[in-house]
Amino acid sequence: MSSFLPTIHAQNKARTYLERFYRSGKIPHALRFVGPPSVGKMTTARQWAKLLLCADSDLASLEACGQCSSCHSFESGTHPDLITLAPAPGKKAIGVDEVRELILAARLYPLISSRKLFLLDEADSMGASAQNSLLKILEEAPENQFIILICRQEETLLPTVLSRTVRLPFDALRQDDLAALLPSGQEDYLSLYEWQSFQGREEEAALCQQVWQQVSLLGRLSEAEEVWSTISKRDRDFFVLLCDFLLPRYQQATITTTDEQRKELLRRFGVTLEWRRALEENANVVLSFYNWLLRMSESSQLKDTR
Ligand SMILES: [Zn+2]
Repeated sequence: MSSFLPTIHAQNKARTYLERFYRSGKIPHALRFVGPPSVGKMTTARQWAKLLLCADSDLASLEACGQCSSCHSFESGTHPDLITLAPAPGKKAIGVDEVRELILAARLYPLISSRKLFLLDEADSMGASAQNSLLKILEEAPENQFIILICRQEETLLPTVLSRTVRLPFDALRQDDLAALLPSGQEDYLSLYEWQSFQGREEEAALCQQVWQQVSLLGRLSEAEEVWSTISKRDRDFFVLLCDFLLPRYQQATITTTDEQRKELLRRFGVTLEWRRALEENANVVLSFYNWLLRMSESSQLKDTR
C-alpha cells in the first residue's frame, strides 16, 4: 500500500481520485474538496500541494522527497509558490480584493518549483462577485497552475464555478477512523480536531497538557511556577487554544468525580470560560492570564492549607 497522504487514510474516495490523477499525469487545474469540517480537507490539500511542488517526488510511492528546496520551503511554511487564502480575521468570507490579488499573483512564474498552487479555504462562503472574479483564473489558468477550493457545502457556489472545478467528496469520519488517525498515546487527551490544530505545534500541545495537569484537581497550582512563567510569555492565540483545550476536559471530568470535586471543577470551568470571553473581547493578554491564574488558585490554596 502506498504511503501517500498517510494522514487521510480514512478518505479513500478522495485519495483514490488524487492517486489516479497523479499517476495518469492528467491533473485537473481546479479541484473542489467538499465535505464536513475537520475531516482532513485542508490536510489533504496541503499534502497534495507538497507532492505537486516537489522537484523529486516518487511516482511509485506518491511521496514528496522531503529533501529538495521545495520540500524544505514547504516544511518551513514559506513556500513562495503555495498561496493559501482564507477569510481575513473578523471577516466571514474571502473578498473580491483578495481574489484580484490572487489573479495578479497567478500571472507571475513560480519561483522555486515548476508549478504553482492556490488553496482557498472556506471557498463556499465567497460572495457572487468574488466568485465571478475567480472565474478568470478557473478559465484561463496556465498549464502549471493548480487551484483547490475547500468547501463545506456547494449550494452557495455559482454554476459556472461548479462546472469548472472537479469535485472530490470527503466523508464524515467514523469512530474507528478517528481512533486510527490519532497518533498512538494521544487518544486520551486529543480529539481529532485538536490534533489537527496542534499539528506541527507539539510543544504547544505539551504545554497545554502540562497546564491541564496543574489545573485539574490532581495538581497544585502553587507548585507549578515554571509552567506559569513559560505560559505567561505566550500570545493571545495560544491562550485561546489553551482555553479550548481545557474547557471540554472540565466537562468530561465532572462526569466521574464526587460532588465536592464536581463543584470545584465547574467553578474552574466557569473561570476559564470567562477568560476565553475576555480574550475574545480583546482583554489585555498578560493581565487576563494572571487574573485567571489567581482565580483558579483561590480554592486550591484553601485545599493546600487544609
Ligand atoms: Zn521534494
